[in-house]
Amino acid sequence: MPTRRHPSQRILIIGGGLAGLCAAYELQAQGHQATVLEAQKRPGGRVRTLREPIPSGLYTEAGPETIPSAHEITQHYARNFNLNLLPNGAPGMRGFYHVRGKRIMPGASAEWPFELSDDERRMGMAGLRLKYLDPANQQAIDAGFDRDPVRALAPFDQRTPGAWLRSLGASPAAADLLTLAARGRTPGRLNACPTCAANCGFAMVAQAVSPALPILDDF
Ligand SMILES: Cc1cc2nc3c(=O)[nH]c(=O)nc-3n(C[C@H](O)[C@H](O)[C@H](O)COP(=O)(O)OP(=O)(O)OC[C@H]3O[C@@H](n4cnc5c(N)ncnc54)[C@H](O)[C@@H]3O)c2cc1C
Repeated sequence: MPTRRHPSQRILIIGGGLAGLCAAYELQAQGHQATVLEAQKRPGGRVRTLREPIPSGLYTEAGPETIPSAHEITQHYARNFNLNLLPNGAPGMRGFYHVRGKRIMPGASAEWPFELSDDERRMGMAGLRLKYLDPANQQAIDAGFDRDPVRALAPFDQRTPGAWLRSLGASPAAADLLTLAARGRTPGRLNACPTCAANCGFAMVAQAVSPALPILDDF
């Protein structure tokens, strides 16, 4: 951040998610007095590590869990705060989904507990992703995602992931399945990340260990 050229200000920041916390950190570093107002009883927003009700020492992420190398700003803060970054994915471990009380091993024969249409059931998760998410990825790439990701993703930033999928012809059940991972405490629009929202699987695990986590209807 550039050096401050004007008198110190008292600044209110609404929301103590990563954006609000980073803003407060940078403003304070500039000598401003920043106060963060957070609606929930904890900071972090969508970043939420669950340590209960699972055995001591274990934890799971109900929100983000990966920092891609392209996320330079997040990487910058990780370095700044001397955080120890671990490689994504434990070697030799197999991932699975836990959804609606059922353990689902990914694969062509996975039976999802959703009222999918016959076509959607035949397609399975892989086919649904191929049909709905891959074209969106390509559209963003073609729109210059590598140069200006915000602009390239702007067309997706108008509705919730579920509404977006339904507008493309997905059944409500298929939209539910593809957006399960996005059902945390994040109401609102697509947040310019449709495929990210639909691709993450770990929130399903989080909901399994913590059934009290609210599921929002407006996805
Ligand atoms: C399941 C899931 C997986 C994800 N995976 C990844 C990942 O792997 N890698 C990655 O980089 N990103 C990931 N993301 C996205 C990442 O979590 C978000 O981009 C980031 O956390 C957003 O931070 P934010 O501060 O902008 O918003 P938020 O985290 O939503 O914070 C907003 C805060 O504002 C508060 N607030 C809202 N309104 C008010 C108000 N009126 N008054 C007071 N407080 C208010 C909210 O309570 C909240 O705490 C994931 C998100 C989800 C949900």
